[in-house]
Amino acid sequence: MKILLVEDELGIQDFICRSLMEIGYKVDVASTAKEAELRSLGEEYAALVLDLGLPDGDGLDMLARCRSQGFSAPVLILSARRSVDERVIGLEQGGDDYLTKPFAMAELIARLRNLLRRSAPATQGVTKLRVLDLELDLVRRDAWRAGVQLQLTPQEFTLLEYLCRNAGRVVTRSMILDQVWKMRIDPETNVIDVHIYRLRTKIDQGFPHPLIRTIRGVGYVLRDK
Ligand code: CA
Repeated sequence: MKILLVEDELGIQDFICRSLMEIGYKVDVASTAKEAELRSLGEEYAALVLDLGLPDGDGLDMLARCRSQGFSAPVLILSARRSVDERVIGLEQGGDDYLTKPFAMAELIARLRNLLRRSAPATQGVTKLRVLDLELDLVRRDAWRAGVQLQLTPQEFTLLEYLCRNAGRVVTRSMILDQVWKMRIDPETNVIDVHIYRLRTKIDQGFPHPLIRTIRGVGYVLRDK
């Protein structure tokens, strides 16, 4: 499994590279945005670890260019930018997770493993998803909560499936637009909120513990405990 590490501080680059190789990953490194872009398009990577402050540009701009050219590997942003706004921007603009510097290597590895696990293709033959008392039949595209069948539109089912696959993890409006609607439209649009509202009335109404939580200013999370 090969990781692309984009980091211009050689000390940190070397430390991460050695640590990842020690636990069995192959690692390619890039010190500039240009180099990272070329590598990401020329090779298949399981994940990208991305520093944002690069000598020839911003890591997020580079990521946006790579994403627009089909780069789909999960991205762990590693940055000294630590404010909530900066982290939200990073997650909105294509990052899948965000770790601030200074960081502990054990945490970087744990987060990277999480990303790799989540992005692994669904095991063949898996036809059902279950989160708490919610159950989805992916073949028949039927859903139940506490044994009661839900009347969902195809779009609502797809949205719920996406939330279930990411249960316990915050998904932003941009991620939903990208993954469920397969489009990049104005993230200010309220199309997501409208659909989440409808989905909520169908899956949460009448239950004491709602499954869908709003994370104000960020997105939504489907509870998994
Ligand atoms: Ca840097």
